Amino acid sequence: MPGFGDSKYEKLVNLKSSKTKNLDLNVVPINIGFDDAFVALNVFDHFTSIGREILKLNYMPPVNIVHPFDGKLKHLSLSDLICEIYNKLSDQNFLKRFKSILTKMKKIFGNYFTESDLFINNTCPKCGEFGYKKPVRKYNCNKCGYEIVMKQKVIHL
Ligand SMILES: [Zn+2]
Repeated sequence: MPGFGDSKYEKLVNLKSSKTKNLDLNVVPINIGFDDAFVALNVFDHFTSIGREILKLNYMPPVNIVHPFDGKLKHLSLSDLICEIYNKLSDQNFLKRFKSILTKMKKIFGNYFTESDLFINNTCPKCGEFGYKKPVRKYNCNKCGYEIVMKQKVIHL
């Protein structure tokens, strides 16, 4: 009803779904879950990159994480971790929503996402699917199958 409530809240939040209009994040605490955290993690990674690259905020170091990978602890960048999780997601509704958020972010802020180690830039050269470059030197598309085979470096003794 016009004239009632918080107009700033209504401007940012869809009152029917109780989700933010731009990122589709739940605002009702009991509904906040993995999907919201995953989207927020992506936004954090991409915008700290803008801080480093464009605004020259050198106190914002790249986020590195120690994560169990193939039975061993490995140092991964945040975008590597996002890629690893992304390639395991199976909820098609969330994937569709997530891709639409990334597409919207790329359309608005694409010129600022210059770092190569950003999940938003990690796309298949053939079909554009996200998550092409895997954390452990592997390049293959889960959607169309396009693959780049890295030659093994042969060391002659
Ligand atoms: Zn592809």
